[in-house]
Amino acid sequence: MLQLDETHHTHRKSWVTSANGHADFPIQNLPLGIFSVANAKGDTPRGGVAIGDEVFDLKAACDAQLFSGDAEKAARAACASTLNDLMALGAGPRAALRKQVSALLAEGTTESGRAQPLAAKLLHKIADCKLHLPAKIGAFTDFFAGITHAENGGKRRGSNPPLSPNYKYVPVAYHSRASTVRPAGTPVRRPNGQRVVDGEKLPTFGPCLKMDFELEFGIWIGHGNTWGDPIPTSKGREHIYGYCMLNDWSARDIQRWESQPLGPFLSKNFGTTISPWIITPEALAPFQAAQPPRPEGDPKPLPYLWDDADQREGQFDLEIEVLIHTEGMRSKGMPPQRIAVSNTKHLYWTVAQMVAHHTCGGCSLESGDIFGSGTISGPTPENYGSIAELTFDGTRDITLSSGETRRWVQDGDDIYLRAHGKREGYAAIGFGDCFARMVAGGR
Ligand code: CA
Repeated sequence: MLQLDETHHTHRKSWVTSANGHADFPIQNLPLGIFSVANAKGDTPRGGVAIGDEVFDLKAACDAQLFSGDAEKAARAACASTLNDLMALGAGPRAALRKQVSALLAEGTTESGRAQPLAAKLLHKIADCKLHLPAKIGAFTDFFAGITHAENGGKRRGSNPPLSPNYKYVPVAYHSRASTVRPAGTPVRRPNGQRVVDGEKLPTFGPCLKMDFELEFGIWIGHGNTWGDPIPTSKGREHIYGYCMLNDWSARDIQRWESQPLGPFLSKNFGTTISPWIITPEALAPFQAAQPPRPEGDPKPLPYLWDDADQREGQFDLEIEVLIHTEGMRSKGMPPQRIAVSNTKHLYWTVAQMVAHHTCGGCSLESGDIFGSGTISGPTPENYGSIAELTFDGTRDITLSSGETRRWVQDGDDIYLRAHGKREGYAAIGFGDCFARMVAGGR
């Protein structure tokens, strides 16, 4: 179990006043990202830490010699334009950096007495910053660990039973596309492709007519493994640098036609949206949870996927949600509307089991690789994490507060994914918005 320490204490407040009571970024969170100041000429991307409505500039803090030891090593690695070098350093320097950043930003500490007078140099309003991808992503693997989503998909395809026979043995995944992962806020263009339009027998080429989102937990790899050298489940979490939310946009009509018999290709490779801040394992320590016991009759995972400690504490209890904000809602001044709420506890596999399975045949992971968990639907329709599930494959309307209806995502729709950890006795933290607008392809 990760140790809880003074960085988690609820009574710790920050002299950055917007952090106190902040829904996502109180001083107990301190997520890592890459930013540049949007309108500052020549400003270059570098590492920062979100604190309330501000970014704490790690390079400026290094220049002011505010760090020492392992924390300084980590902060210097974070001065680059991506966090890959920092991520390769692994857990120790990350935890040391968290402790020193927390002390520098806390009210009434010796360290804050050195930092606060430099506030003008150290802090930038997030609203004035461009947030970049936090790492150069070498590989993106998409798992399928949301069992309800897998069952619902099987039912839509008419499979009986809905789950394939391997599902409860194998953490099913496919290699997805790293080059088109974008940070929140970047519009995603509706792809063209081959699809069989409803009522027709043969495919035509044109824009996707059945656009969907997927509510997924994103997993960043820290230090990797040597080719040929599997990572056991007991060590899986040591290789994870942090977490984000991930919208695996899915062109369902293209997917249905092309995925026979191999998996998704163009239906998933046109764009993936992630929240730009890396939420660290230390920040999530209060929200660790046991993997819920498997239902009676389900097989025990094979020994290479089993670790007692991982079963006790390798899952997370995070509330995750999907919101939609249509052009119609925006024009009326209405806020985004929640259309689904779920929880990471609904995952059938832990993140350590994903790491162990990915590497059991010798595959090497590298710092900056990212996993998607698979769509995390819960047991009842209000928990469904894709629009295909919410509208029963486009056969029922979702009615929105603006009076509009949706069966699939339309051009101009903003889709937001959010995640929050809430537990009695601890400060609530959030991931920050994972949002993007679907726009017309125009090609
Ligand atoms: Ca997916």
